[in-house]
Amino acid sequence: MTAIRPLVAGNWKMNGLSSSLAELEALKAHVKGKPVLPADLMVCPPATLLSRAAQVLAGSGIALGAQDCHPLPSGAHTGDISAEMLADAGATAVIVGHSERRTDHGEIDALVNAKARAAHRAGLTAIICVGETEKERRDRTTLGVVARQLKGSVPQGSQAANTVIAYEPVWAIGTGLTPTPVDVAEVHGFIRGELAGLLGQGEADRLRILYGGSVKPGNASELLSVENVNGALVGGASLKADDLYAILKAYCGRTA
Ligand code: PEP
Repeated sequence: MTAIRPLVAGNWKMNGLSSSLAELEALKAHVKGKPVLPADLMVCPPATLLSRAAQVLAGSGIALGAQDCHPLPSGAHTGDISAEMLADAGATAVIVGHSERRTDHGEIDALVNAKARAAHRAGLTAIICVGETEKERRDRTTLGVVARQLKGSVPQGSQAANTVIAYEPVWAIGTGLTPTPVDVAEVHGFIRGELAGLLGQGEADRLRILYGGSVKPGNASELLSVENVNGALVGGASLKADDLYAILKAYCGRTA
């Protein structure tokens, strides 16, 4: 299997005003003059900041992502934003199926699948989130839950070039709790195997599988060195440029 270039993506969630663009300036300053970063770096601010974030990040090498999209390209869907609109605003990726959307908005796998297809249609990378709840982990159904989510949420024909999987145990998001490296390795290895069944071994071997859930500068090295972990989806810690950059630096000196 060839080495997979890792991705560190920051999900700002429903945080960020105009003043937060200063954090993007700070992130830009961190990467400036460093011709080769150890991993790809992406920030996913709220939709209201996308256009201005695109201007700030232009030419920096830092990618811009969004947090959700509607399955359709346009139409009478008040308050929704299409993948085409996100691309037009400067995004190159969009998170779909985040557990907060699955919980807050009742999003089911079929809808997540439609959103991922919309992302592909618009030329965006779909970052598809899966992960078990605390109860599901306690009941030892983690692998079954993740398998069902992957089967339902990952569109047929998805490729490593347009799709990223984020394994985010729901109980680890924003709680400061994390699975053990052994547990992370088990689920990520399992996801790679499931992807081989869904998309073929070639795509599965190239696809990035991110870990998400309370990744911080202090635990990034341990979590990101786990086998089959090809980067991180970072929530809270991504709001501070220094912290997001410190997480990226966990890759310095490694060839993951
Ligand atoms: C997330 O929201 O995707 C996430 C991983 O959040 P946090 O890092 O805050 O746990």
